[in-house]
Amino acid sequence: MFVPKIAIIGAGPAGLTLARLLEYNNMACTIFELDADRNNRDQGGTLDLHIKTGQLALREAGLIEEFNKLARPEGEGMKVVKFDGTVLYDDGHNTTNVLSEGPWERPEIDRVLLRNMLLDSVKPETISWNKKLFRIEPSSGDSKHRFDLHFADGTVEKEFDLVVGADGAWSKIRPLLTNEWPFYSGVTAVELWALDVQERHPWLSEYVGSGSCFMFDEGRALLCQRNGNNSIRAYAAVRQPESWSKDCGIDWSKPATARKALVDQYFADCGEDVKRVIQDANDDLKLRLAYMLPVGVEWQSRPGVTLIGDAAHLMTPFAGVGVNIAMADALDLAQHILSCRDGFNSKSDENLQDALAEAIKKFEASMFARAKPNALKSTNGLRGHFSAGGAEEFAERIHRLKNTTNSSK
Ligand SMILES: Cc1cc2nc3c(=O)[nH]c(=O)nc-3n(C[C@H](O)[C@H](O)[C@H](O)COP(=O)(O)OP(=O)(O)OC[C@H]3O[C@@H](n4cnc5c(N)ncnc54)[C@H](O)[C@@H]3O)c2cc1C
Repeated sequence: MFVPKIAIIGAGPAGLTLARLLEYNNMACTIFELDADRNNRDQGGTLDLHIKTGQLALREAGLIEEFNKLARPEGEGMKVVKFDGTVLYDDGHNTTNVLSEGPWERPEIDRVLLRNMLLDSVKPETISWNKKLFRIEPSSGDSKHRFDLHFADGTVEKEFDLVVGADGAWSKIRPLLTNEWPFYSGVTAVELWALDVQERHPWLSEYVGSGSCFMFDEGRALLCQRNGNNSIRAYAAVRQPESWSKDCGIDWSKPATARKALVDQYFADCGEDVKRVIQDANDDLKLRLAYMLPVGVEWQSRPGVTLIGDAAHLMTPFAGVGVNIAMADALDLAQHILSCRDGFNSKSDENLQDALAEAIKKFEASMFARAKPNALKSTNGLRGHFSAGGAEEFAERIHRLKNTTNSSK
């Protein structure tokens, strides 16, 4: 019987969802992850999982009930303000019409909770931690399209029938399939944290509400999101050259003066509330440069290797779809791999490798079709949010959406 040896590079949402779906359907795989363990790194802020993509993948993986316990449906609340502080839209304090039980359209979940849920859903031995992939090579003397994995610690894992690159923006697998490489989108965000907000930042807590609070304007934006654990994460984003964070003269190692300089130099004409959000954060500042792949990246399918998630179609976060598309890829790929399993008992290895190659080809065609419109949406979000009138346009869109939803009820 042919049992394909499958490696997944990266234990992010895409790689973990794929591993869970395969294991849940009794197919083994190994994830190789560069982090030393699950607590090695701050996982970032909050993610909204959409009902037809991210949530669907979890449903198929038998995890939707667990997800519903961890999700924050009130996180769908939204407030939109203009640069001068005028509130254009606000349902961020109205949690009374949130259904007490799912299904919810786009509930939020903290990244760390999503990752831990997925990690706990696979066998501990499925994940090989502290394994930074250094390079991938075709297995020597092998005519069956198998691959060897070379790790930064000098070890080599050999002869995988399928290697799935779920290793995010700077994928080490991508160069096997395409020469495309991420480029700077033009936007740098300064990430600001506020912890224990109800006690230590009551004004901020009230201002942001239960979900997101956004300000969009020409060349700048402020994106605040309530996270679990009584905290708020905000991004003060500016359209500036890639070298801006080094060249701008702001000393990021001195958070209080850096926050003041950021306000004085880039947000001075904004309303007092908008400025106060930046001033009211904790001392933990992080710079996040947004990179993206060109819209509509495709490649010629190559047996034995493929990509999912950001590795395949890195987008800026300005449409809030990246993780959803990543998890939809995982579901789609798992279904294509599992679809050839029936033949694994009956046919020769070679026929089955051909079947696996065909499944990968079909998966990629469907992934390309899914990724392109979403990448376009992200690009349009990037353009629209950082333009004069960006907040008004966004608020109008939400009004329209809410009206359509209400009238179709
Ligand atoms: C600020 C911000 C906000 C966002 N908000 C949203 C949102 O609200 N909604 C949404 O849908 N999307 C959002 N996104 C996008 C979302 O985070 C990504 O699309 C999603 O994380 C992609 O998942 P992934 O598993 O493909 O990649 P990643 O999450 O990048 O995971 C890749 C994994 O691979 C590992 N890895 C990398 N290189 C190697 C290597 N060489 N060897 C071994 N392991 C390796 C990494 O350690 C990591 O664990 C946001 C992104 C950012 C930056």
